[in-house]
Amino acid sequence: MAARKLSTILELLASGIAAATILALLVIGLGSSALGLIQRPTARHQTGTPSSGATATPTASPTPSPTPTPPTPLVYLTAHGNPHLHEIALTFDDGPAQGYTEAVLGVLKQFHIHATFFMLGIWVQTYPNLAREVVADGHAIGDHTWNHPDLTRLSPDQARQQIIDARNTIQKVTGITPTLFRPPYGSYNRPILDIAHSLKLSTILWNVDPRDWSRPGVGAITNNILTFTQNGSIILMHDGGGDRSQTVAALTTVIETLLARGFTFVTIPEMLRHLPPAPITQQP
Ligand SMILES: [Zn+2]
Repeated sequence: MAARKLSTILELLASGIAAATILALLVIGLGSSALGLIQRPTARHQTGTPSSGATATPTASPTPSPTPTPPTPLVYLTAHGNPHLHEIALTFDDGPAQGYTEAVLGVLKQFHIHATFFMLGIWVQTYPNLAREVVADGHAIGDHTWNHPDLTRLSPDQARQQIIDARNTIQKVTGITPTLFRPPYGSYNRPILDIAHSLKLSTILWNVDPRDWSRPGVGAITNNILTFTQNGSIILMHDGGGDRSQTVAALTTVIETLLARGFTFVTIPEMLRHLPPAPITQQP
C-alpha cells in the first residue's frame, strides 16, 4: 500500500536534489479567496496548545479564547514550505492503522508537536476512532484517496470519485472537511491536479523521503531524514500500509535531533499559511 512507485521529480528529491530547485510549482488562490476552506472547528484548534504537563506555557490563558483560525490558502501543488523559515512538517500516510497510528500519536504528544496525516477513506471507515483521535490531538488531516490506487491509471471520473469518497468519509467520521490531498505513490498528472483543485484541495507532495515503507532499518530512516531535512521540508513517513515499527522507532530520535537544530514543527495548513506570496499567479 505504500509508495512503491515515485514520479521522476520525487526520485530526484529523494536523492537529495536541493529542494529550492524543485519549487512549488503553482501557487494560486492565496489569501482570502480561500476563506471558505477552513472547516476545522474552533474548539479542536484550541486543544493545540498543551495546557498541562511539565512544560509551562507562560502565555497560555486559563480560559481558551476563541482564536479564529486564519484561512488556509488553496495551493495547486507544492512539495515544500517556505525555504526562508526554520520550520518543517512531518506527514504520515496510509493510515489510520491499528497500533502504529496510536504509537505515532504517543510520540508526537510527548514532544508537543503536531503533524499531518494523509488518510485512506477505507481505513477511516474501518477505524473511525483512530481518525477521531488524530484530530482530537490537534493534528491536521488530508485526503489520500479511498484505497490508494495510482490515480493516473484511472479515468478522470474514477479518480475524482476516489478523492471524493475519502473526503466524504473523513468529513462524516471526524467532522473535518479536508483541504489537503496527497496522490498515492506521488503519482499525478495535470487532470489529477485539476480535479483536486476543483474540489478545493491543495495537492501536497514531499521533499524528504526516507522510504520508511520499505523498512530499510531504523538507522537508515533516521539518517535519511536528518541528512535531507532543511528549511521548509515536508517529510514523508507512513503510519499505515504495513509494519511501521521502524518508523515509530525512528521518530523519537528524528524529532529530538531536529528540535535540537532549532526547527519548529508545523502542520501542512500552517506551512501553507507561511508561504511567501505566490510567484506565479496564473493557472495555465
Ligand atoms: Zn500512500
